[in-house]
Amino acid sequence: MTFDYDLFVIGGGSGGVRAARVASGDWGARVGLAEESRMGGTCVIRGCVPKKLMVFASGFSGMIEEAQAYGWTLQPGRFDWRTFRARLEAELDRLEAAYRGTLQAAGVTVHDARATLVDAHRVRLASGQEFSAKHILVATGGQPFVPAFPGSELAVSSNEMFHLDALPRRALVVGGGYIASEFACILNGLGVEVSQFYRGAQILRGFDDEARGHVANAMRAGGIDIHCGTDVMRLEKTAAGIRAIATDGSEREFDLVLYATGRRPNTGGLGLEGLGVEFGRDGRIVVDRYSQTAVPSIFAVGDVTGRINLTPVAIREGHAFADTVFGAKPTAFDHELVASAVFTQPELGSVGLSEEAARAEGPIAVYSTAFRPMKTAFAGKPDRVLMKLIVSQTTRKVLGCHLVAPEAGEMIQLAAIAIRMGATKEDFDRTCAVHPTMAEELVTMRKPVRTA
Ligand code: NDP
Repeated sequence: MTFDYDLFVIGGGSGGVRAARVASGDWGARVGLAEESRMGGTCVIRGCVPKKLMVFASGFSGMIEEAQAYGWTLQPGRFDWRTFRARLEAELDRLEAAYRGTLQAAGVTVHDARATLVDAHRVRLASGQEFSAKHILVATGGQPFVPAFPGSELAVSSNEMFHLDALPRRALVVGGGYIASEFACILNGLGVEVSQFYRGAQILRGFDDEARGHVANAMRAGGIDIHCGTDVMRLEKTAAGIRAIATDGSEREFDLVLYATGRRPNTGGLGLEGLGVEFGRDGRIVVDRYSQTAVPSIFAVGDVTGRINLTPVAIREGHAFADTVFGAKPTAFDHELVASAVFTQPELGSVGLSEEAARAEGPIAVYSTAFRPMKTAFAGKPDRVLMKLIVSQTTRKVLGCHLVAPEAGEMIQLAAIAIRMGATKEDFDRTCAVHPTMAEELVTMRKPVRTA
């Protein structure tokens, strides 16, 4: 049987674009790709990229005070959201065009339309046009989830945060994960009065407890009003804003309420039901280690599979899929020891096991230090950084590394290489320090602070 395409990709985000580019450009497959929104997906259009630019924008407020302490004559200025937003939009246009250019150069045919599956080898575009394909890759990502409660329609999600007409004066952020904590810090840095409600006992569940506490303390010291064990019962529109009635009995008014309470896979209405594809929690597509679904011709990568919802993971899954299916090189992405960073202020960089998770697996030694870094200490700021290594007492391997520090995202990338290579604590110790840096503490911690 002949097909219109060797591969049809649904979704032009990180995973789909990489798979399409490699299948076509590297392996010569005939590839079509459909995207209903803007090319680049969540990461480029409404996630990592615009978020990081907002992190940079918000970081300048603290720098002026520091610069003054270093002798600079500088006066705090005013942040103009509209100026920033216009530049942000231009940058996203540039990136979107670059993504399109990459696909074009690789020979991929792009369809700017929503695509759904008709059967295991056919897709239909919103225009009604149909194509057959030997393989179909579902890379449709996810979308913000806002729970149903009275007044939930008054809340915005992260999607709307990049398009605000004006910055609010008072904002409530609900949730304790990556997105909630990052936006709480961004808004705070941009001069917004920020409260954060989280239903659990401590924000950033899943990360190392000591590191979570360190970030939360720094966020509070930075002026964010974090309320743990607190959730919103209802939201009401008022003359001046939005009143939040909380489970702790408080009633407060805000100008903006951001819900960052997780994301759900985009699987609804795709036509997958009835084809034999299996679904897991929240509708995620169940795949094997080669990203193949229960239907042999249908594969899925990225957030729609809910394995680890991070851009670089989707990219690697997409690449591995293309190599496996079109390059005759069976490749399974290894989801172990994936490092990540939470772009709070300060950042949290993390790889491997938390102290709590490692304790459950065997005897460990914990090496940890918290100190005032040179740069901000000189400026008289109380900021402290945390450097922590979790070491197996049996193998001496470093099982986890957790950093709370400016640029922790940059540092953890490098620590992750050593840890993936199986570095022991003695390998870290043998490595000569780079002085004077914050990261040198990682190779100079001689004695464990505790064993367990
Ligand atoms: P997370 O899953 O990280 O966090 C969701 C938060 O919302 C948790 O604190 C959760 O509480 C809370 N929550 C969930 N449901 C409810 C509810 N019904 N009522 C009140 N609170 C609720 O999701 P995010 O939205 O922050 O981010 C989605 C994913 O995107 C992340 O998992 C991450 O993989 C990715 N991401 C990565 C970034 C990075 O790498 N820097 C940045 C942004 C996103 P509880 O803990 O109790 O479940």
